[in-house]
Amino acid sequence: MQLHKKIDTEVVIIGAGPAGCSASLYLAKFEIPHVVVEKEQYPRDKVCGDALSGKVVNQLKKINSAWVDELQLSDTACTPSWGVVFSAPNGNEIAIPFKHKPNGASHSPGFISKRIDYDYWLFQKLDKKWATVLQNTEVTDVDIQKDRVVVRSSKYTITSKLVISAEGTRALVAKKYGGYKLHKEHHSAGLRAYYHGVTGLSKQGFIELHFIKESLPGYFWIFPLPNGQANVGIGMLTKYVSKNNVNLKKLMIEILESPKFKDRFKNATLQKKIVGWGLPLGSKKNRPISGHRFLLVGDAASVIDPFTGEGIGNAMFTGKWAAEQTRNSLEANEFGAKELLQYDKTVYQKIGGELMVSAFMLRLINYPWLFNWMISKIKNNKELQETITFMFDDVDLRKKFTNPLFYLRVLLN
Ligand SMILES: Cc1cc2nc3c(=O)[nH]c(=O)nc-3n(C[C@H](O)[C@H](O)[C@H](O)COP(=O)(O)OP(=O)(O)OC[C@H]3O[C@@H](n4cnc5c(N)ncnc54)[C@H](O)[C@@H]3O)c2cc1C
Repeated sequence: MQLHKKIDTEVVIIGAGPAGCSASLYLAKFEIPHVVVEKEQYPRDKVCGDALSGKVVNQLKKINSAWVDELQLSDTACTPSWGVVFSAPNGNEIAIPFKHKPNGASHSPGFISKRIDYDYWLFQKLDKKWATVLQNTEVTDVDIQKDRVVVRSSKYTITSKLVISAEGTRALVAKKYGGYKLHKEHHSAGLRAYYHGVTGLSKQGFIELHFIKESLPGYFWIFPLPNGQANVGIGMLTKYVSKNNVNLKKLMIEILESPKFKDRFKNATLQKKIVGWGLPLGSKKNRPISGHRFLLVGDAASVIDPFTGEGIGNAMFTGKWAAEQTRNSLEANEFGAKELLQYDKTVYQKIGGELMVSAFMLRLINYPWLFNWMISKIKNNKELQETITFMFDDVDLRKKFTNPLFYLRVLLN
């Protein structure tokens, strides 16, 4: 019989996905001892499109400048991604290459890697000098008291000064202490399937986002993976799915059999099952993401880009900012809700603008004609193309999308 163990530490991180790993890697940089608790045994799967954007690549480089090259060369099977294809409801398609800024790196701006591989690779980077990592350990309760936090699993009771909740979509801390409720208008349903033998995949690893009639108000994607495989999926706002009783799986199969895609999937075989998971979107303005002795990061903080569904980058960013906040709180020995509110301010100051622009873009999907018009504008507008081209490499360029003057110029062009 295994004995129940007690551990006392400075900080507990619940969940070792990209958000939890990023928080842990930064805490280790700051030489802060902590415990990471993960309910699964790695390598573990995660339902996802598997696209690692420029945000992820830039974060990796900041943590360790050698890691992106290592990721490319390691056994972690990944496809370098050099661009994106958008298709509009009227069938109009546009392919936009991603480029590095002048003097940029030689590696691709983005990658596509199955999460079972990428997350495991990142997880193995955790610095055991500062992080005590407990796998196969599901946290069943978190009790935040005035002067400490008590985290419980069947095997451990861990006490700490602060808890970083990185548990993903169904975060215990977010529900119990953050007032989190699933708002269907700020949440998407997504399906993922792995296929082998899809034809017409880009040799440069362009990801394909299809805003076709059948998938609206959502999009259908095809992302090329190594060894002739592809990640194929669909995402749609949960509010629409439940209001209209949409059977997403049936819809996805209909799309595969539609005239636009049937030839490409003629000889493709499904690997394993089609699986689904939720996406907590960052479209609700300034949702509280901290409180007395806790910080929420990644999906637990609902920071997925509402338009693209991209969440790994923001998960890693929030992990970093939470670690920085933790360092400040430990130094000041202040863990109250008022002090930790600075974390919310940092997050929303850095990515609040782009989340709101994406929320606006998401609303455009309800108006196919407007979307058709946008795609034709992008096709004919050099500035817009350039912005998107470099956006993957230069996160700051995304700020352009938050400037109304930018849209005015696009409109008048
Ligand atoms: C269908 C779909 C497609 C997507 N496509 C993309 C894409 O292409 N690119 C992109 O950037 N993003 C995409 N996303 C979003 C992305 O998957 C998430 O934003 C990202 O995984 C968030 O990382 P995280 O670390 O916050 O959470 P997770 O990756 O979910 O990690 C949470 C971890 O916490 C652990 N955990 C949970 N509960 C407990 C507990 N009680 N005790 C201990 N451990 C616990 C879990 O086992 C898990 O390992 C997609 C999402 C979906 C659903």
